[in-house]
Order: sequence, then C-alpha cells, then structure tokens
Amino acid sequence: MIIVFLGPPGAGKGTQCKRLVERYGVNHLSSGDILRRERKEGTELGKEAQGYMDSGQLVPDDLIVAMMMKEIQPASNGAGVVLDGFPRTIGQARALDEALEKAGQRVDVALNLGVDDDKLEQRITGRRSCPSCGAVYHMAFNPPKNGETCDKDGASLVQRSDDTSEVVRHRIATYHEQTAPLIDFYEKSSLHNIDGNVSIDDVTGQMFAAVDDVKGKAGM
Ligand code: AMP
Repeated sequence: MIIVFLGPPGAGKGTQCKRLVERYGVNHLSSGDILRRERKEGTELGKEAQGYMDSGQLVPDDLIVAMMMKEIQPASNGAGVVLDGFPRTIGQARALDEALEKAGQRVDVALNLGVDDDKLEQRITGRRSCPSCGAVYHMAFNPPKNGETCDKDGASLVQRSDDTSEVVRHRIATYHEQTAPLIDFYEKSSLHNIDGNVSIDDVTGQMFAAVDDVKGKAGM
C-alpha cells in the first residue's frame, strides 16, 4: 500500500506517520528527514539542499525526485510505504505516478491533513527534538518533564534551524503556492481529507478510518 501524506508544515504529519507505522507496519519515508541526514553526512546533495532548506524554499524537483525514487522502490514492497513531505509540487507528483506505473504500482490513498494557518506557527516554533533518540516534544502541548532535556535519555533538546518564526512564515507561504495544488491533483483519484485542528488522538482516529476504508474496498 502506498500512502501519500499531504499537509502544511507543522500539521503533525510526522507524529501521525509514526502511528501509521505502528498500526499497519508500513515504512515511513520523510523527505525532510532524508535531507537532514544528507546534510549531517555532508554529502553533495546535503550541501546543495542546505540554502533552500534554511530559507524555507523547496529543494529543486530533479534533486528530490532522484533522491526519493531510490528510497521508494525498495520501501514500497511488503506492507508498503507512507510518504511524508513528498511529493510537494505537481512536477514531483507526476514523476512519482510515472515511476510507480512502470513498477505496476500506484498511490492508494492521499491523506490531506488540514490545519488552519494561525495554528501552524505556534505548533512549529514550540517544537523541540532529541538529537540522540529522535523523540519529539512541544514546549506547550507536550513538554518534557525537566526544562529542555529529553525524558528518555536526558540529552539537551534542539530546535530545527528552519523552525524559527521568520523561516516558518516562508515555509507556510511556499506550501500554499506550490504544495496546496496537490489537493486538486489527488482529488480525482485517492484523496481523503482529515481535520488536523483537533486533538492528536482524534486525528489518528480519522486517519485510521480512511486507511481502513481504502484497504477494505481494495481487499488488502
Ligand atoms: P520538512 O521536514 O518536511 O518540513 O522539510 C524541511 C525542508 O526540506 C523543506 O522546507 C524543504 O526545503 C525541504 N524539502 C523536504 N521535502 C521536500 C520536497 N518534497 N521537495 C522540495 N523540498 C523539500
């Protein structure tokens, strides 16, 4: 099963993807996480992506499509894959469809997690993560027990360099310009709208219902 997860930055895609992995055993591929790994390792791709990421712009399609296709082919076997943050432009979505068609596959469901703009900035700027175990916190909604240290291993939490107010505003504008048109793109085939303004558990409930429905209809 191939799941595309759409939604603005800060909508909670990462949190919900972890729950999809637990329930359905799918692989989770986050284009943002892969790019951050490339940057940490100092690869050519990481260096090329850096300037775009730090200013809240999208990395060019050709780089992203090549990077993601390498990962999607092996990950989409077995239980399948949830794509988090990819595709993010119509060009990327078309490239994905073409590659999947060649492999006899298709996007089974596109989940569109909608959150009002005024909530996004607060959700993103309060976000902190643990550099050693990857646990994610929010200073207002899901704070760590002691200051800004990880509950699991005591490491000092960090803020993503692109989670500051100025860059966040740019990322939200980029989403409206370049990624929101994907809602129409998937509307005709596989779109399920999910209200992301409610609690984390309520969002999960809507998401599981949508995926169960698709699986039931397709006999998966
Ligand atoms: P994210 O972690 O998904 O918020 O992504 C962080 C940054 O990585 C974005 O602001 C973009 O600069 C870049 N990025 C991630 N996914 C893509 C994509 N599919 N296309 C272009 N740029 C991307």
